[in-house]
Amino acid sequence: MLDDFQIDQPIVYKTLLNAIQKNTITHAYLIELNGYSKGLDFAKTFAKYLLCPHHYTNALNCKECYQCKTIDDGNFLELKIIQPDGQWIKKEQLEELQQEFNRKALVGNQKIYIIDGADKLNTYSANSILKFLEEPVPGIIAILLVENAYQVMNTIVSRCQVLSLKKENYTINSDFSLKKRLAYYSFHTLEDIENFLQTEESDQKIECMVEYLNYFEKKGYQTIIYKNKAFLETFPDKNSLYLVFNWFILYYKDVLNYQLGKKIDYFKEYENSIMEIAKENTILSISQKIERILELSEKIKYNVNATMLMDKLVIDLMEVKK
Ligand SMILES: [Zn+2]
Repeated sequence: MLDDFQIDQPIVYKTLLNAIQKNTITHAYLIELNGYSKGLDFAKTFAKYLLCPHHYTNALNCKECYQCKTIDDGNFLELKIIQPDGQWIKKEQLEELQQEFNRKALVGNQKIYIIDGADKLNTYSANSILKFLEEPVPGIIAILLVENAYQVMNTIVSRCQVLSLKKENYTINSDFSLKKRLAYYSFHTLEDIENFLQTEESDQKIECMVEYLNYFEKKGYQTIIYKNKAFLETFPDKNSLYLVFNWFILYYKDVLNYQLGKKIDYFKEYENSIMEIAKENTILSISQKIERILELSEKIKYNVNATMLMDKLVIDLMEVKK
């Protein structure tokens, strides 16, 4: 079920759930795999979620309805999966699909096709997909899977909502340094991970982040006056702010782990600070702080004023009763 991907793919999971709840499912998705090994599984699960008549009411996903059962058996006519026939996805494969989809759906009113390997569309098949996408037919949803969006014609990409999966989190090896753990957590591509690992700036960022939270936990509102400016010099843009807000969450999660008697996952190197924060906070207050940070981090995607954002962070966290 879709919930199975909540941990591997928190962002895409949330985006899709949101779209389902708000009824804003679009007619075409391009899913970038970025090295994620279960992309097709993910696409099928998403399709099943949309096709199952119970998904709106039954959060646990049914597995029992006709749709779910036949999808699991691979016999559901309104879900087609197209994979390269030899080296390419051929035009004939898509013509066949078009013909099949032209008839009325036998069950329900939705049809979904998944193109597994959208980079394997040749000129002809790419053009017939393009036609599909340019003149969407109500009730038909396309899901295209590809390693990276740049492998697909721009004209196709621009007609899809692009979703970026991330490589599964490596089991965090206890030998990994904090930097390496954060790198694997924070970035999707090996190139970004390497970049992060190779720059010294990353160490300063990590240090700055930990120092900031530790200072806040001791001094509260003073953080606004004494820390926010320097903090924003280290994290000057949207991307880096989004990144550091995720680290804040990891840090507080470690505090929570400590409070619950579990092992510290990420910031082992700062065990003493984590212990102190754990003592000064209740489990409830740490959970609430995590929630506040999550809410604020959502706003970073829009045009927020960074100074106001950081002030608001301190104020919001101070509102949480210890
Ligand atoms: Zn079902």
